[in-house]
Amino acid sequence: MSDIQIAQENEAHEIKPITAIAEQIGLETAELEQYGPYKAKVNFKAIQRLNQQADGQLVLVTSINPTPAGEGKSTVTVGLGDALRQLDKSAVIALREPSLGPVMGMKGGATGGGYAQVVPMEDINLHFTGDMHALTSAVNTLAALIDNHIQQGNVLNIDPRRIIWKRALDINDRALRQVVIGLGGPVQGMPRQDGFDITVASELMAILCLATDITDLKARISRIVIGYNFDRQPVTVADLKVTGAIAMLLKDALKPNLVQTLEHTPALVHGGPFANIAHGCNSILATQTALKLGDIAITEAGFGADLGAEKFLDIKVPQLGKTPDAIVIVATIRALKYNGGVALTDLTTENLGALETGFSNLAKHIANMQRYGVPVVVAVNEFTSDTEAEINLLQELCEQKGVKAVETSVWANGGQGGLALAHEVLAALDQPKDFQPLYDAQADIKTKLNTIVTEIYGGREVVFEGKAINQLKQIEKNGWGQLPVCIAKTQYSLSDNPKALGAPTDFTVHVRELIPKLGAGFIVAMTGAVLTMPGLPKKPAALNMDVTADGQISGLF
Ligand code: ADP
Repeated sequence: MSDIQIAQENEAHEIKPITAIAEQIGLETAELEQYGPYKAKVNFKAIQRLNQQADGQLVLVTSINPTPAGEGKSTVTVGLGDALRQLDKSAVIALREPSLGPVMGMKGGATGGGYAQVVPMEDINLHFTGDMHALTSAVNTLAALIDNHIQQGNVLNIDPRRIIWKRALDINDRALRQVVIGLGGPVQGMPRQDGFDITVASELMAILCLATDITDLKARISRIVIGYNFDRQPVTVADLKVTGAIAMLLKDALKPNLVQTLEHTPALVHGGPFANIAHGCNSILATQTALKLGDIAITEAGFGADLGAEKFLDIKVPQLGKTPDAIVIVATIRALKYNGGVALTDLTTENLGALETGFSNLAKHIANMQRYGVPVVVAVNEFTSDTEAEINLLQELCEQKGVKAVETSVWANGGQGGLALAHEVLAALDQPKDFQPLYDAQADIKTKLNTIVTEIYGGREVVFEGKAINQLKQIEKNGWGQLPVCIAKTQYSLSDNPKALGAPTDFTVHVRELIPKLGAGFIVAMTGAVLTMPGLPKKPAALNMDVTADGQISGLF
């Protein structure tokens, strides 16, 4: 059965009203804003009340570098939450919300899979509670206000050639990467070159995920640098005097969304920046709410531990004010064989040699996560093609690195398939930890980038290309030289070359552009060929989607 069939079958019989899910974690109906019977936003009154409570423990789920299919992080995150609940632990899940880009493109849905899913999966994957739409509207409202400002006399002296605020759309649309706007004569606006990012790459998405309340949201929005004036001085949203309008559009999107798993474990699904082109973590408000509502909060960070987890630990943790108590690295035998050089079409054949070669990728991620001083557990997300010899070999290899590799079959068996993992995670939570940040917060941008490239990616050094050299000077001149860095890089490799699998060494990472995101509070470094507006593949997932006359959806995976 497909993910959507399993979800639909269970939803029809089992799904509980969201008020019942809220009640089991001590949330009152008055603290919810309901979107139909099965979805709700948690209101700010509840968040304020919860702020007085102590935090639970935090588990971060991450993974090896993925194969093109995605390796089951969300699935394992959901299954681990269900398994902990089966062991009578008060576990609350905090996930990112899906973007239509991957849903229509390569991957399909992003609500977990098999018997480890959050529901209602169709709603969550499509329009959900409208957060993505609100963000897209807010991004484009700001763009319209910038162009209108120029059209109406340009009091701020904005240089139309130096506007860095782009428009956004929540779908992969490569035709919009670079566009010319304002054609058609003086009444149609000032012609200029513009472009679109996918909504999840926009600074407003990062801001939504980092803001702690509406006041903080407004402060961050006011600091956004939209571009430069003819004197090369930064122009901000505060200068444009539209902070209030943009914040207003996001006031509801800022509230975390509460849903449930197929086994009724509470899940906060909120905020969804991609980890390859953005900071890759769900919202601080959702993670914080999960920490307050549960004894154990389980959250995930996107793509491999080189991307999402690094950004979680170096960007999100300082703002969250809570370090993880355990890290789970999800690996699959087929992804490790892919990293060992096996073609996508041959991943179902036993291949111990390739598994051992590809293990280098997992080994690097284990060492990287151990470096932060947090106990690590490896979750082997079981596929039917895995052989006993492969599983034994992987467990042995992990043992040599000092970590337990636990088989999980949550995709096939739900929480029951994650009990062994849950026991291991509970043991990890009891271990002592001593969180060590990767870099000194005061270090300059080049030092921070070099630290990530050498220590996390395993490369030799970072190299700045022409445009980035000038941008670095400008950034330092503007006094932003001590901000954290958010690297935009391919997810498929530890390096900036998607074809370099396993654990490459002695490579350089090429930074071609630096983009200041003052509202988010970091500098984005664009590396390799990664783009902030993806394209659709030759055979998009959209080709298999349909809806019947009575509204039944199919093909969302
Ligand atoms: P990630 O979070 O790493 O991107 P997901 O959890 O979203 O990955 O899973 C990606 C896809 O793989 C989903 O369609 C899911 O149903 C499928 N999947 C995950 N684990 C398994 C498994 N053990 N067996 C079969 N399919 C799986």
